[in-house]
Amino acid sequence: MNRALFLDRDGVLDALVHYADGWGAPRTPAELRLLPGVRDAVARAAHNGWSIFVISNQPDAAKGYTTRESLQAVHAELLEQLDGAPIREFFYCFHRAEDRCECRKPEPFFVLEAAKKYAIDRGASWFVGDVDTDVEAGRRAGCRTALLEYPHSSSKRGAQKPDLICRDLDHFVRTLIGQPSSNGSQSQD
Ligand SMILES: [Mg+2]
Ligand SMILES: [Zn+2]
Repeated sequence: MNRALFLDRDGVLDALVHYADGWGAPRTPAELRLLPGVRDAVARAAHNGWSIFVISNQPDAAKGYTTRESLQAVHAELLEQLDGAPIREFFYCFHRAEDRCECRKPEPFFVLEAAKKYAIDRGASWFVGDVDTDVEAGRRAGCRTALLEYPHSSSKRGAQKPDLICRDLDHFVRTLIGQPSSNGSQSQD
């Protein structure tokens, strides 16, 4: 059995964007900004034997804020900026909450699908996200959960109890594989 990191996308890999109605996911490729340390963190985790997946809700086309084509272009730009970082598969839900689909987090649907497809031991795996619905999806899938304290999504967390709280993905991966934090008090790397 393999072990996996199931990563949320926005607020974990890339930055949220400020719109008139608040902070949200990038709607055009020009808005996509990878967060610091992400590429190396993904590569380091994969090097240490973790299979990496991304599981993300992307309802903005269904809500009329952008188009599916534009969201596809955002995904292509993300792949470009990740520059070959070893992510095995991306799973996207394009529905809205009111569509009552089976794949929108906090539903654990895509974790279960990925686990089946890639023979992942869910109990040995982690779900990493920046909001409560990520923690809930991971918990319901039987994974351990880590919540990242991304500043622009702070209003969407606090009601779930993750196994671990970290600053960002780099901090999580360093905690996971036992390396000192780059901005902690130790400095051997
Ligand atoms: Mg997020
Ligand atoms: Zn869905």
